[in-house]
Amino acid sequence: MTAVQVSIVVPCFNEHEVIGAFHSALLAALEPTRQTFEICYVDDGSGDGTRLRLAELAAGDPRVRFTSFSRNFGKEAAMLAGLRMSRGDAVVLMDADLQHPPELVPRMLELHRRGYDQVVAQRDRAGEGAVRRALSLAYYRLVRRCMEVQVVDGAGDFRLLSRRAVAGVLSLPESNRFSKGIFSWIGFDTASFTYRNVQRAAGQSKWGGKNLLNYGIDGLLSFNSRPLRLAIHTGLCLFLSALGYALWIIANVAWNGVDAPGYTTLMTAIVALSGIQLATLGIVGEYVGRIYHEAKRRPHYVVRETDESRGRYEHLSK
Ligand code: UDP
Ligand code: MG
Repeated sequence: MTAVQVSIVVPCFNEHEVIGAFHSALLAALEPTRQTFEICYVDDGSGDGTRLRLAELAAGDPRVRFTSFSRNFGKEAAMLAGLRMSRGDAVVLMDADLQHPPELVPRMLELHRRGYDQVVAQRDRAGEGAVRRALSLAYYRLVRRCMEVQVVDGAGDFRLLSRRAVAGVLSLPESNRFSKGIFSWIGFDTASFTYRNVQRAAGQSKWGGKNLLNYGIDGLLSFNSRPLRLAIHTGLCLFLSALGYALWIIANVAWNGVDAPGYTTLMTAIVALSGIQLATLGIVGEYVGRIYHEAKRRPHYVVRETDESRGRYEHLSK
């Protein structure tokens, strides 16, 4: 077999409506580049026939490969599986919903040829609601201040990685994977360019507000332990101010002979302090939970079938 130059890794979850259009657009973009390529689809446990569509595509074209999970394991797991199955010298990660325009792939390949190990296509936030835009702006500002690695707004998972960058990504064993952080953690020369944001072609985004919030918390916690430091600082500040206040009361009583009534102050202090204590406990708990999770060393996903295994389990598949 000739060596594969380019692998395209596409995680898909319930994308049967767009997968056909995506596939044709991708072929139309890749064929003129005259590179040998493969397309690695990862079906993340879709329940809408995406897997069968992928199997069809793979059956009709040796350049198409796929892996299908036994249930939904999330996009991070799907990307990991795709990176593991890819064989190309350059690997492009992209979404199946046509929000990552395939026309941009040749440009990424060109930048890779010029020597960049990572090429990032960064979307602008055109067409997004003002609230969401403001929230993500605030979030990235916060993250930049807190985190040991740099993440860039709009620089999502549409990126090209060289073979050695992929090896870098795969060398991180953690099960709680925050790709944005990982891509930045591995380093290498990175080129980026901006493209205009497009709405997804069909189907629905799998990101609700709650998912985004949790993703945000993941991002903050998985790459640093500064929240713990913050808890210590808050504790120290509170202790010092309490000390000052106590001294002030004692002095007041000693000099002026006033006895100190203070139901409201007491109540406020108790409530505020228990709030802070609970929050701190929560932060510590988050980290402990993560340790527990990592310590189990579970695999990131379970495979249901691949293009190669297809047929072997036919009697089990509906
Ligand atoms: N995706 C996935 N598993 C999931 C959720 C999403 O593989 O659990 C895939 C999805 O099929 C798409 C990509 O990840 O190819 C991005 O998902 P989506 O369009 O829902 O996210 P958004 O573009 O809104 O950030
Ligand atoms: Mg999308």
